[in-house]
Amino acid sequence: MKHSIVKCPGCGLLLPNRSYEEPLRFHASGECMELYHQLSVYTSAHGYEAFIHQLALDAYGAQHCGGGMRPITAAFSLIGLYLVVERGFTGRQVQQAHMELGRLKADWPELALPPSSGGVTVQDVLQAEPGAARDAKIQAWVRSEWDRWAHVHDWVKEAAKPVLPA
Ligand SMILES: [Zn+2]
Repeated sequence: MKHSIVKCPGCGLLLPNRSYEEPLRFHASGECMELYHQLSVYTSAHGYEAFIHQLALDAYGAQHCGGGMRPITAAFSLIGLYLVVERGFTGRQVQQAHMELGRLKADWPELALPPSSGGVTVQDVLQAEPGAARDAKIQAWVRSEWDRWAHVHDWVKEAAKPVLPA
């Protein structure tokens, strides 16, 4: 029997069931992933200089860890959030940091998941008006995910050291 509502295992969003497959890369319902794809159309076309797309990708990644997600994806997402929230990096700078870290280090640990989901979701971001309001919502999403992962902040800060200015 088909259920009419599906709950995203990552962010907890309840969405109408459209029988989408779960994505491989994220621990998410296919329906939630579809919202992320909609957001990607926006972020890819907008804010090129600052590359806000990277912020949305890392917030989404941090919110949809577990399942079949590779440890490097979780680690990179969290490092990205840290660099933006506490170090003032732009998305473009985070993208460069990820490339640099990818060259330096090959082994990434499996990080323990936060106890709860919640906070800002991709749906909240899409419901904000395109432009300044939506970009501010993406920033709020990044911050809410960074806060939710407080138990690994020390690890993340250590892992990000190689890409920080001396
Ligand atoms: Zn989700």
